[in-house]
Amino acid sequence: MASLSRALRGIAATRPRQSPARGWGLRPLVSGPGPTSEKSVPYQRTLKEAEDASAAAQGPSQPLPGTASVVVIGGGSLGCQTLYHLAKLGVSGAVLLERERLTSGTTWHTAGLLWQLRPSDVEVELLAHTRQVVSRELEEETGLHTGWIQNGGLFIASSQQRLDEYKRLMSLGRVYGIESHVLSPGETKALYPLMNVEDLYGTLYVPHDGTMDPAGTCTSLARAATTRGAQIIENCPVTGIRVRTDDFGVRRVAAVETEHGSIRTPCVINCAGVWARAVGRMAGVNVPLVAMHHAYVVTERIEGIQNMPNVRDHDASVYLRLQGDALSVGGYETNPIFCEEVSDEFAFGLFDLDWDVFTQHIEGAINRVPVLEKTGIKSTVCGPESFTPDHKPLMGEAPELRGFFLGCGFNSAGMMLGGGCGQQLAYWIVHGRPEKDMHSYDIRRFHRSLTGHGRWIRERSHEAYAKNYSVVFPHDEPLAGRNMRTGPLHEELRARGCVFQERHGWERPGWFSAQGPAPVLPYDYCGAYGHRAREDYAYGRLLGQEYTFSFPPHHDVIKKECLACRGAAAVFDMSYFGKFFLVGPDARKAADWLFSADVSRPPGSTVYTCMLNHRGGTESDLTVSRLAPGPQASPLAPAFEGDGYYLAVGGAAAQHNWSHIRTVLQDRKFRCQLIDSSEDLGLISVQGPASRAVLQELLEADLSDDAFPFSTHKLVRAAGHLVRAVRLSFVGELGWELHAPRPSCLPVYQALMTAGAKHGLVNAGYRAIDSLSIEKGYRHWHADLRADDSPLEAGLAFTCKLKSSVPFLGREALEKQRAEGLRRRLVGFTVDEKVSMFGLEAIWRNGQVVGHVRRADFGFTINKTLAYGYIRDPSGGPVSLDFVKSGDYALERMGVTHAAQAHLKSPFDPDNKRVKGVY
Ligand SMILES: Cc1cc2nc3c(=O)[nH]c(=O)nc-3n(C[C@H](O)[C@H](O)[C@H](O)COP(=O)(O)OP(=O)(O)OC[C@H]3O[C@@H](n4cnc5c(N)ncnc54)[C@H](O)[C@@H]3O)c2cc1C
Repeated sequence: MASLSRALRGIAATRPRQSPARGWGLRPLVSGPGPTSEKSVPYQRTLKEAEDASAAAQGPSQPLPGTASVVVIGGGSLGCQTLYHLAKLGVSGAVLLERERLTSGTTWHTAGLLWQLRPSDVEVELLAHTRQVVSRELEEETGLHTGWIQNGGLFIASSQQRLDEYKRLMSLGRVYGIESHVLSPGETKALYPLMNVEDLYGTLYVPHDGTMDPAGTCTSLARAATTRGAQIIENCPVTGIRVRTDDFGVRRVAAVETEHGSIRTPCVINCAGVWARAVGRMAGVNVPLVAMHHAYVVTERIEGIQNMPNVRDHDASVYLRLQGDALSVGGYETNPIFCEEVSDEFAFGLFDLDWDVFTQHIEGAINRVPVLEKTGIKSTVCGPESFTPDHKPLMGEAPELRGFFLGCGFNSAGMMLGGGCGQQLAYWIVHGRPEKDMHSYDIRRFHRSLTGHGRWIRERSHEAYAKNYSVVFPHDEPLAGRNMRTGPLHEELRARGCVFQERHGWERPGWFSAQGPAPVLPYDYCGAYGHRAREDYAYGRLLGQEYTFSFPPHHDVIKKECLACRGAAAVFDMSYFGKFFLVGPDARKAADWLFSADVSRPPGSTVYTCMLNHRGGTESDLTVSRLAPGPQASPLAPAFEGDGYYLAVGGAAAQHNWSHIRTVLQDRKFRCQLIDSSEDLGLISVQGPASRAVLQELLEADLSDDAFPFSTHKLVRAAGHLVRAVRLSFVGELGWELHAPRPSCLPVYQALMTAGAKHGLVNAGYRAIDSLSIEKGYRHWHADLRADDSPLEAGLAFTCKLKSSVPFLGREALEKQRAEGLRRRLVGFTVDEKVSMFGLEAIWRNGQVVGHVRRADFGFTINKTLAYGYIRDPSGGPVSLDFVKSGDYALERMGVTHAAQAHLKSPFDPDNKRVKGVY
């Protein structure tokens, strides 16, 4: 019997010791599928034990139906949860095909930990749903116990910042009624006597966290789903996906093929875990995940451990899961083992544990629970798990193929997220869109140029794995997979000290450092796999300095950029924006249907609008410029007859917008073209009271209010280059955007900087845009305006053509909402105390929690923190303007409340004078 300390000593004796943070020497980046041997596993029940071992050879467990409404591929946590939720939504004729037997892939390995608190409101809701399914719903429905154990969860803070993060989680938990307590080291010791608390700042205790059992959960899900009419067929590998092209030229799923026949179906859900990439390939769909070994060890009996909560020691990157009267110990290494492909034969298998890699966890585990040093190891559990470039799952309809959905890439959280995600997938399939804001999990969050890019997927997935337990700081950026898409000004801005942020693969300016260039360099894999760890890395150092929940050290730099914009002028490189043309015979019909605002105004007009889903939720906000037809194509407009529109959408959501529009065009059979010119055009925005004076020196056009009013656009020459000038503002100032062909951007920018010098023109980045725009009360999509928020709730009724009779997508839902009264409303708050806020703070009204902050930042002109969040009336009634105005408000940040004032209009320039040039 090996003990944890003996394992550690054994490694130390045979290898030169290195800092665990750097990994244990050279490792091959890729390992083969590895041995798949059977070992004793810690579960009392597995489905494998429950059935005849020779079943695999017997062929499908049931005859295949000829057709199915939906085919779910894979019978792990995700497949079973999705099938159950489809059946619950009343879908008949859904079939699950499992190559071997239920749970035989990754699911049976799981440690089954379920933590309820995460730094995301949507994730908290998803986890709550899983918990409800396994702790109550399934048992009520089937009479079977899923194996759920509510032993509680304990997060360990070994630093003040970590404790701050936990306090943020506690405040968010308050919004959702999740009980949690921040405990002192002494209180922690009383709760968990075997724990070393000497190096602790404190802990977060969540009494209703617990542990799921994979076999029990999937057995119950299968019983419940089949009772409701769904079909589960085991021992039936899917070998192909048949695709058809419809009359409109759209590729759609037609059938699923197996060795035992095919099933005609319009809808497939790829829940094939680490094999999801292979299943994607059958359909020509990229599935951006990598498989890695993921492991824990199970100890011998530990006296006094019974009934203890599960423990996550984030700073040591380890977890300790209660396993009866023993512990399972696992974690996240800096040098995980990649597996290129996992064998098709892998079922109920285990990889041999690589102690070189696993040793990183031992010191941390022993430090936390010292009795482990002398405790033996009963078994090891090492299985394949999928990891993705941002450590979030892959869900939703693939952009490449209609009817092909993803439900994979669960980053070692597929048990706890399974219920919530299965429910959302089912909703997605039945209603076309999920019920919640699933953008962070939606495959469309990645640009299509990245989802098949092997190096990007591998680098980003590695970094995301290694950082899984890191504190989630508001201004962090990835170091991996950078410089994938760069704008026309990238080199120039870098030389001027630009500190870049990564969004959607693009490098966009974050802010400008006076200390000179801080380029983003190739990824060093934290020094693992034979790479040299970077020691003196200016960009990494700047990021590291901002790892705080207080005002970051670069607060004053952002302030300068903001005040320069408000007082003189600032230039923002927004080239990462998505820039699309919508043209063709049905373009006007399509625009009327797609956009909530009336965009079919005369050519030369530009309209800020939303795009909605059928539930009235906001899929996007964007600007649409009506174009005049012309026979001559140029980079600034394609040749077209009839109607044409130029769309500018936030760059981080470009793929989302692209897919949404294409889907609507296909579903409604509109005959028009959507052309993506995002890479061909740059976007330079000049904003501020001096913008007119600066631009007037460059632009061969009259920029007076009469000649060039707000919300209009023109083709003009700038420093001799033809550009589309659009009078718009994302920051609440007089300003113009110059949309220019890529080769023209640099000369135009350089001429701008020369002309602007005497007017005080400065470079500014997205950190300044964030602050300036929240100060003005402008919404940010996917923060204070999401697919689960309607424009009426978000205070954007002015973007909806409800006074006209023109039908548009989402109109009926909005009308219903208006007639019934709004159940929640977006409200702005200011806080006089100088405290930093970033979102997730609880909103208190008259002593009751009524919502949480979605987005917060500091406004430098009003010199206050601003926060936006949706509030509800706890009595369940509509939220009237009087309700909003009549409350006394406070925002709870890390357990402390701060008085706040509610605003229905932006506190900065409430009459919108500045965008009209009135100063
Ligand atoms: C060591 C370890 C510890 C973990 N601990 C936790 C934890 O504490 N909490 C937590 O939430 N998560 C944990 N996880 C992660 C969790 O177990 C996984 O995220 C989850 O089980 C993934 O489920 P899945 O359904 O996506 O994949 P799988 O369980 O792998 O299911 C995919 C199924 O698809 C089948 N399949 C593949 N190809 C085909 C085909 N062509 N035709 C038909 N069927 C096919 C496979 O046989 C397999 O059964 C852990 C994982 C590991 C490895």
